[in-house]
Amino acid sequence: MAAHQEKKLAEERKHQNMQNGSKPSQGQWGRAWEVDWFSLASILFLLMFAPLIVYYFIMSCAQYQCSLTDPLLDLLAGNKHLSDIWNRTPMLTPRAAAIYSLWVAFQVFLYMAIPDFCHKFLPGYVGGVQEGAVTPAGAVNKYEINGLQAWIITHVLWFANASFFHFFSPTIIFDNWIPLLWCANILGYAVSTFAMIKGYFFPTNAKDCKFTGNFFYDYMMGIEFNPRIGKWFDFKLFFNGRPGIVAWTLINLSFAAKQRELYGEVTNSMILVNVLQGIYVVDFFWNEAWYLKTIDICHDHFGWYLGWGDCVWLPYLYTLQGLYLVYHPVQLSTAHALGVLLLGLLGYYIFRATNHQKDLFRRTDGNCRIWGQRPRYIECSYTSVDGAKHYSKLLTSGFWGWARHFNYTGDLMGSLAYCLACGFQHILPYFYIIYMAILLTHRCGRDEHRCGSKYGKDWRRYTAAVPYRLLPGLF
Ligand code: NDP
Repeated sequence: MAAHQEKKLAEERKHQNMQNGSKPSQGQWGRAWEVDWFSLASILFLLMFAPLIVYYFIMSCAQYQCSLTDPLLDLLAGNKHLSDIWNRTPMLTPRAAAIYSLWVAFQVFLYMAIPDFCHKFLPGYVGGVQEGAVTPAGAVNKYEINGLQAWIITHVLWFANASFFHFFSPTIIFDNWIPLLWCANILGYAVSTFAMIKGYFFPTNAKDCKFTGNFFYDYMMGIEFNPRIGKWFDFKLFFNGRPGIVAWTLINLSFAAKQRELYGEVTNSMILVNVLQGIYVVDFFWNEAWYLKTIDICHDHFGWYLGWGDCVWLPYLYTLQGLYLVYHPVQLSTAHALGVLLLGLLGYYIFRATNHQKDLFRRTDGNCRIWGQRPRYIECSYTSVDGAKHYSKLLTSGFWGWARHFNYTGDLMGSLAYCLACGFQHILPYFYIIYMAILLTHRCGRDEHRCGSKYGKDWRRYTAAVPYRLLPGLF
């Protein structure tokens, strides 16, 4: 009921704004209230084609040695029909369903049942109960941060099984890769649909719901801001981190195990991909509390984009390099391997240092040192839906003085390193850098649009002080 009232209120607010001839600004930052044709077309395209894109990539590896062009050429030349490809595709199996259900249930258990103990003995690690950012409705949610612990327990069990118990083969993920894809899709669609229904009928915080009136947009971008079941099961935190990101490193380990089973050795490229992506994943969990202040948690509503994306897109497409290396065991020259390692580590350093500077600056409200000096910043203000005025600061020194999204630049360098580890024979492992470049460039625009509406003229003062987005002097 509360959600219906909020929907009505939103419509009235939109109507008033239209009558005033003004664009919604105060207290209405966050995702869109109205949907233009381009957004709608993009959303329909993604809803229809994103699952096919994932299938196409995975099928290309399984049936065409990771060639992206051969399936198309085969179809166009009439050598194969769609039905031939489909008939060779493994279906959902009871074994895959059991593995996947156990996996998700285990991650729910780790998330809900074991409060964080890592912060009690790991110096510098921030875990346990933490607060998120102020939501557009002015609420502040509490989160139990225990992702690092879940990652450690899961991996200890994985290695214990691989070394001592041998309950299952470490190649289990690779061996069930396509049947597991169907399971991930079922969960992704189920959770997105549930989130939509929940947004209408029993939202966690009705004031933080957004209804555009467009069914497809609301399904994709979400209605509820922070859907929860009970006090602690937070959809965004759970689905973004686990099962997808905990699985990322296990998936890579399974691919490495498969390489060894097939060829008797693990190549240096596979080790590089495992190590560089492993650093990224551990970093994510080490900084899970910081993650509460990133766009996914602070600004995105929970819909198909996050629900399906976390269950399917992330574990299947972010791990393409490891999958590719099972089919093409590339052994890199020492110079090539070192180059990739250095690029990956430098990218990671920039990514982490930039994010750390902003986090430190915001946590201490500017009472800190950035590169040994007092930070420079721009004071800004904004208003939340309840009409309350809030104050904030935008950092303009350190890496944040070089470009407005230098953290993305570091991320892109790291992403390129994973791809370069796979050599130059096929385009498929380069999907990740292409995708990340599109995602993060689009994110720059999305974030800047949102910050522009949130901070108004203060944001314009900031962009004048830091004119470049990603590459100082260029873009
Ligand atoms: P940011 O961490 O850059 O957060 C952007 C927000 O930070 C803005 O909305 C604004 O929020 C605040 N902000 C912007 N400029 C400043 C400033 N100068 N000083 C202080 N605060 C500022 O973006 P993301 O959340 O998108 O990304 C976080 C990290 O996650 C990035 O490193 C990114 O590369 C990575 N990432 C990785 C993805 C992947 O799939 N691998 C996907 C997405 C992100 P406010 O309203 O608080 O002012």
